[in-house]
Amino acid sequence: MNSYTKKKIISAVAPVLSGLGIHKLFAPGYAGLGQILTFHRVRPDQDEERIHNHLSLEISPQQLEATIHFYKKEGYAFLSLDEVFEALKKGNAKTKFVAFTFDDGYLDNYTVAYPILRAHNIPFTIYITTNFPDYRAILWWYILEKAVIEKDVIEFTFGPSGDYRFSCKNRTEKEATFDAIRSLINQSFQINDHKELLKNIFDKTEDQLYDYSKGLVLSWDDIRTLNADPLCTIGAHTVNHFPLSQLSEKQLQDEIEISRQLIEEQIATSVQHFAYPFGKVSEASWREFEMVKKLGFKTGVTTRIGNVFPAHQHQTACLPRISVNRVTTKDVLYLQSSGMLPFIVHRGKKVITH
Ligand SMILES: [Zn+2]
Repeated sequence: MNSYTKKKIISAVAPVLSGLGIHKLFAPGYAGLGQILTFHRVRPDQDEERIHNHLSLEISPQQLEATIHFYKKEGYAFLSLDEVFEALKKGNAKTKFVAFTFDDGYLDNYTVAYPILRAHNIPFTIYITTNFPDYRAILWWYILEKAVIEKDVIEFTFGPSGDYRFSCKNRTEKEATFDAIRSLINQSFQINDHKELLKNIFDKTEDQLYDYSKGLVLSWDDIRTLNADPLCTIGAHTVNHFPLSQLSEKQLQDEIEISRQLIEEQIATSVQHFAYPFGKVSEASWREFEMVKKLGFKTGVTTRIGNVFPAHQHQTACLPRISVNRVTTKDVLYLQSSGMLPFIVHRGKKVITH
């Protein structure tokens, strides 16, 4: 079962659970000080076929509005990450808080999300993978989605295994082919292999692949404009968006440090917050947390689901977050913000560090 299917199931049962009010039993012990939300893209609804996996990496503008209204109605304070850090140092907060964070550096964060956030006066953080605004990123997951939707078959040659042929004639095959090629790509993250594979799959030159991706990402000018607004914090998200656990110590340090330097040079502001690419246990753990601490960041955020508790003041390099996506309804927000869902996932453990 892929993660989007799991999310859909949660979304389907959420109205029943929240209707029964079970989540309210968890809130006193498990809501904690508040939550940090993870967003990726904010993309208007379009009448086109999509691959399901992508829907867990985006929301519509209406959902962003609805999420803001939910937290306003529930009486949350909207904090920047600097303010979250301060609240953690104190170990308490007058009111529950929520912090909005956006990963990677998508153009629609500026064109679609920013006007909404500004209208509601919501502080937010965007974590930049510096290859995005440097136009050296290949957003292969969107190129792959398009290819799988448009084609009946995808064929290519690569590596010792030789010839690959994936059928994508119908919905089921398209979803399966997307997942299969995605895991092949994810296993080939070493730079040269990775690019060779992408060129072969899509039958395009490296420059063509960069050009396609250009239209989806923030430029440095956009980032400077955002950074000029006190509502916005710019954080680092490495240079290449590799799974950090697979890198050598030196590569790990470079990925983090160089991305911070590049951003600081571009925006002339110190960068003090970091998000681990992917951020699951298998991709970021103790070694990565220690590095982020050593490099002096105030906070590091993972994608482990969880609320923030006073005990996190000793673990500011591995703060959990809660993902908001296409199936995050109001009922799901109740289950997440009360701490009920994180309770179930982590079997009651509040601070997840491993
Ligand atoms: Zn990311």
